[in-house]
Amino acid sequence: MAESLPPSGHRYSTRRNTRKRSLEADEAQKDQPAEKTAGKEGEEEPSTSKPGEIDCAICLQSCVHPARLPCGHIFCFLCLKGVFRSCAKCAMCRRPIPRNYLETPDLLEIPMPASAPSGDEEEFHWFYEGRHGGWWQYEERMSRELEEQHKSGSDKFETIICGHLYTIDFANHVQFRNDCPFHARRILRQRPSLVEKRGVAGIK
Ligand SMILES: [Zn+2]
Ligand SMILES: [Zn+2]
Repeated sequence: MAESLPPSGHRYSTRRNTRKRSLEADEAQKDQPAEKTAGKEGEEEPSTSKPGEIDCAICLQSCVHPARLPCGHIFCFLCLKGVFRSCAKCAMCRRPIPRNYLETPDLLEIPMPASAPSGDEEEFHWFYEGRHGGWWQYEERMSRELEEQHKSGSDKFETIICGHLYTIDFANHVQFRNDCPFHARRILRQRPSLVEKRGVAGIK
C-alpha cells in the first residue's frame, strides 16, 4: 500500500545575504506577482522573502546539495564533481573553477527535511560503502530513487551519478560503475539512526 510522501521542503538559505542570481528558478516564478519594495533602490530585500528552488543547469532538476562557484552560479555538488575532472569550468559562464574548489565548496545550507511525525517509524535510507570503508548516505534524491526502485521489486537499475553510468544491483547488494564493473561497492538499506555514517554523498 503506497503512502503519500510528505512535502520534502527542500528549501535552502544562503549563509550570506547574497542576492538571488538570474537563474531558471527565477523564470519559474515569473507568473507570480513580483514583490514590490517600497524602499529606495539598493535597500536589502525583506528578510521574509524566500528564495525559490534553484534549478541545476547540469542535471536540469532542482539542486541537491547546492554549491556556489566563485562566479555565483549554483549547481548540485555532485554535478559539479562530475564535470570537474573533464572540464573545470562553470557550465553557465565558462569561468574556470578553482583547482581546490571541491575540497572547500561553498555549500548553501539546506534545512533538514521535516522529520516523520511522531508515532511513525523512521524511514529507510540508502548507503554505499566508501572507498576506504565506512558508509556514506546517498544524497536525498538518489536515496528516494533507490527506495522507489527497491519497492517496485526491480533487481537492478541504471542511473547517472557524478556523470557516470552506474548499476545499482539490489540482488547482490552492490553498486558499480558500468565502465569498471569489478570495482563494486556494497550498498545498504537501513534507518539512518542505526548507521554510523561518514557523511552524505562524499560531503563530510
Ligand atoms: Zn545537478
Ligand atoms: Zn559561472
